[in-house]
Amino acid sequence: MAHELLPLPYEYNALEPHIDEQTVKLHHDLHQKAYVDGLNNAEKKLADARAAGDYALVKHWSRELAFHGSGVFLHEFYWQNMAPAGKGGGGEPTGELAEQIKTDFGSFDTFKKYFSAAAVAVEGSGWAVLAWQPQGKQLVILQSEKHQQLTQWGVVPLMVCDVWEHAYYLKYQNKRAAYVEAWWNVANWADAAARFAQARG
Ligand code: FE
Repeated sequence: MAHELLPLPYEYNALEPHIDEQTVKLHHDLHQKAYVDGLNNAEKKLADARAAGDYALVKHWSRELAFHGSGVFLHEFYWQNMAPAGKGGGGEPTGELAEQIKTDFGSFDTFKKYFSAAAVAVEGSGWAVLAWQPQGKQLVILQSEKHQQLTQWGVVPLMVCDVWEHAYYLKYQNKRAAYVEAWWNVANWADAAARFAQARG
């Protein structure tokens, strides 16, 4: 079954003024759509390769599968991980996720500084990812380069921040740190907490 572009959970302008309407529209309708198309194409080409028994391009299409697939799924997390400021967006997590952040990072403030630093320092295009690592029963922060690189196998993303330039350049130009600072105002902790509860089972 082909992958589809999931609709946004809110209007294009819902994250204003922190993330502007035009950026959200281009980001979702064009950039994310391109990853969906790329993922479907990679899956088709690999199915064709199996049918033909011709694996000459398996390396290329495997790379495309990883890049576009990771791109699609991270964007799906990203939109769900945000909500309009003051209406689900911003503030701090509560409950078990808040406790786990305190256990693993000391305090929400320390976590916030660490996550922001990781996001700002991603080399080139990528993501900051707060994830649950089931093996160590702990939260980890990862800097994913492009979409698919510098991850750990088996972790479950809870909260992701897209730091590709397409996520912020129209409004923030080269000031990635200003975008990341503004992004906290739309961080949807209820969504992250629900992912945490599901990940822990
Ligand atoms: Fe993006």
